[in-house]
Amino acid sequence: EITYIPGKEPHPCEHRLIFKNVDRSGWDTSIDCYLKDGGYDQLKQALGMEPQAITNEVKTSGLRGRGGAGFPTGIKWGFIPPNNTKPVYLICNCDESEPGTFKDRYIVHQDPHQLIEGMVISAFAVGAHTAYIYMREEFPEGAQIMEQAIAEAKAKHFVGENILGSGFNLEIYVHRGAGAYICGEETGLIESLEGKRPYPRIKPPYFPAALGLYMAPTIVNNVESLCHVKHIIRMGGEEYAKLGVARNTGTRILCVSGDVQKPGYYEVEVGKITMGELLNDVCGGPKEGRSFKAVIPGGSSAKIMRCDDSYSIGQGEDKKELGFFDIPMDFDTIAACGSMAGSGGVIVMDDSRKMSWVLNNLNHFYAHESCGQCTPCREGNGWMKKISDRIANGQATPEDITTLEEVAYQIDGKTVCAFGEASSWPVEAIIDKFRDELTSETSEDNEFISAEAKQQMK
Ligand code: NAD
Repeated sequence: EITYIPGKEPHPCEHRLIFKNVDRSGWDTSIDCYLKDGGYDQLKQALGMEPQAITNEVKTSGLRGRGGAGFPTGIKWGFIPPNNTKPVYLICNCDESEPGTFKDRYIVHQDPHQLIEGMVISAFAVGAHTAYIYMREEFPEGAQIMEQAIAEAKAKHFVGENILGSGFNLEIYVHRGAGAYICGEETGLIESLEGKRPYPRIKPPYFPAALGLYMAPTIVNNVESLCHVKHIIRMGGEEYAKLGVARNTGTRILCVSGDVQKPGYYEVEVGKITMGELLNDVCGGPKEGRSFKAVIPGGSSAKIMRCDDSYSIGQGEDKKELGFFDIPMDFDTIAACGSMAGSGGVIVMDDSRKMSWVLNNLNHFYAHESCGQCTPCREGNGWMKKISDRIANGQATPEDITTLEEVAYQIDGKTVCAFGEASSWPVEAIIDKFRDELTSETSEDNEFISAEAKQQMK
């Protein structure tokens, strides 16, 4: 029976597959520990299957990418051109940088062999003999843990030449990231891995699955997605698909941060829990004397949602009105409500939070992280930052809000990669939902504005 470190037990609403070993009593990152609990059993099972059969199981499971876009993993694997003669690469995207998202780091820090097992099975399925773990630069310990785990797995023939006598070869390399948010965008990541500046590539028409690393077919999957593959092999795609809800199957890890009693990570069946159950039951409700004001449901790039709004979803006979707290936490419903389940980073704000500060904080982040390749994003994010400095400092006019909105719309949809939307959607949504609050702002003591900048604004 599994026991957890006192005080870190999973909430009864959780269904842990990926986080089964996270915070487990007596658990460590060594291969001996992992092997004691059936570790690498699914690799043995998978090596006895046809690669296409593994892809089929992943398709049947309905697994959708846990990096944020929710694209079906099995379908992505299926995009490798059938007549391909080039090497195929597998890349594990561990550049987790989306503000509010902190799940992949825990997998790496506490259960590295689960990731390796998921990667070897996935590489076998897609025919890759070289795999990379692109590790966020700010995760130095994670890189060391993975290096150590790979060495242990190699010593036991789970990685390397002729894995477990199957004739299948796979080398896995840890590549330290270059310290920029854009390195997590899959084509920026690929450029960075090739030793270049991480300017994202235009997609479509070519996606990495057809033309990726060194212009060869490349599958880029998130850490959590790759771990799910192991469980799909263990359970079978059909059984796995019974978890969660239709088109939103399996479990996912929600990272809750901000103004709740119990922030943290919670692995739940997708769509089986509502926003209200998550925030009130699992996370213990708002802080003493406070009430919930707004939530960003899927990492900072997702549109902010007001907790006092109702959301109209569905069409025709299926049309219904949902209060914020009744929204199920799945990809499709949150998208229908005008936001995005994204990377699972749920950022909660209570009535003590000024929206001008939220806006300003986000604008500073995106202005700093724009890679500079596309003019609307490079210039626009700088302008948005300056305008939101004025708003947060109580010096904005209603025209400033209009200009800010116009700049956001000039970025949205006009850049090579999704950074344009990631940086403009939060602005559009905050203005849309909290315009009055922004124009009535008078606060001067904003911690995000330097003293020098405040002086200049006077
Ligand atoms: P996307 O929808 O363009 O692509 C998603 C995945 O599907 C990619 O791997 C892409 O190659 C593949 N794909 C899509 N259409 C395809 C096709 N026709 N053929 C082959 N492959 C195809 O999304 P994106 O720009 O890669 O990612 C955006 C998401 O990233 C956002 O939703 C955001 O939530 C998330 N995000 C996550 C983090 C994080 O730290 N986890 C950080 C920033 C953004």
